[in-house]
Amino acid sequence: MNAFTLKRRAIMLSAVAGASSMFLAGGGGVAQAQTPASAIGGNTGHYRFRIGDISATVLSDGIIEGPPRVYASDAPEAELQAVLQQAFLPTDHMTLNLNTLLIETGDRRILIEAGAGATMGPNGGRIFDNLAAIGLGPDDIDTIVISHTHPDHVGNLRAADGGRAFPRATVFVPKADWDFFVRTDPDLSYMPVPEEFRLRFAANIKNSLEPVMNHVELYEAGAEIVPGLTTIVASGHTPGMATFLVHSGSDQLLLTADLAYHPVVNVDNPWLPGPDRDKESALASRRRIFDRAAADRIPVLGFHFPFPGIGHMLKTDTAYAWVPANWQF
Ligand SMILES: [Zn+2]
Repeated sequence: MNAFTLKRRAIMLSAVAGASSMFLAGGGGVAQAQTPASAIGGNTGHYRFRIGDISATVLSDGIIEGPPRVYASDAPEAELQAVLQQAFLPTDHMTLNLNTLLIETGDRRILIEAGAGATMGPNGGRIFDNLAAIGLGPDDIDTIVISHTHPDHVGNLRAADGGRAFPRATVFVPKADWDFFVRTDPDLSYMPVPEEFRLRFAANIKNSLEPVMNHVELYEAGAEIVPGLTTIVASGHTPGMATFLVHSGSDQLLLTADLAYHPVVNVDNPWLPGPDRDKESALASRRRIFDRAAADRIPVLGFHFPFPGIGHMLKTDTAYAWVPANWQF
């Protein structure tokens, strides 16, 4: 039995939920998973629920994709391939969702994350259709709160004509990200992507934020944005990244932003996202916030997790396991 098999067995024994309980089922040489069905379109991209008195709706902005290696930078190649196959995922690319959250509290409509729009591929920008599906338009959004300024979180702020896509919204941006990505030309050489991608990535951040320059409120992570929405320090992925706690009465929802990209590679397996600028700080933030979610049994929304991205973080002997919540009608 080699070290890899031992590790897999340890994971199998410790995990109590999710795909990891199926580890080893196929032994070596697992065949590529088949796609069970091709989507024909028209499926829902919004999911409504309540957090105490707050009405909440996950609004999908669509999906983005990238090489699995980018999202699991320290995974041994053979192990990464095996984990993806065993989780019935493609091995040549990873699909990430864009789960923005609309919260309606009092007379305010607050959007948490703006989504990617067209900045990260052709399958973003669906938030406007999903807003329309619940009877709202971009005019109805008063406030937008951004966890960090990567393009998949700010892309929709710029309309096709270069103006403000959400014409009435004040945009809350973490100050340290504004200083790093907007006020200067950041050195992004830490990102494990081609130079051409890095340049486009940096330009997309400035382009997306340019129309809202005069409507930005800079915040320090830890601040309360409005009663019921608190930001939590989670730096590492970017200098200013925050996560969020939405709370009302005894109900809470913890948003993990980009502490993890996909539960299979960053929760069920504790691999480090390549785009984390300071991997040690990001790891410390991830553990601190996942531990809190697990210990206090707080429901979690993962921005990039499979739609609608709601579930629980379970602490295992070796790491964590992602437990998706049941769908509610
Ligand atoms: Zn992201």
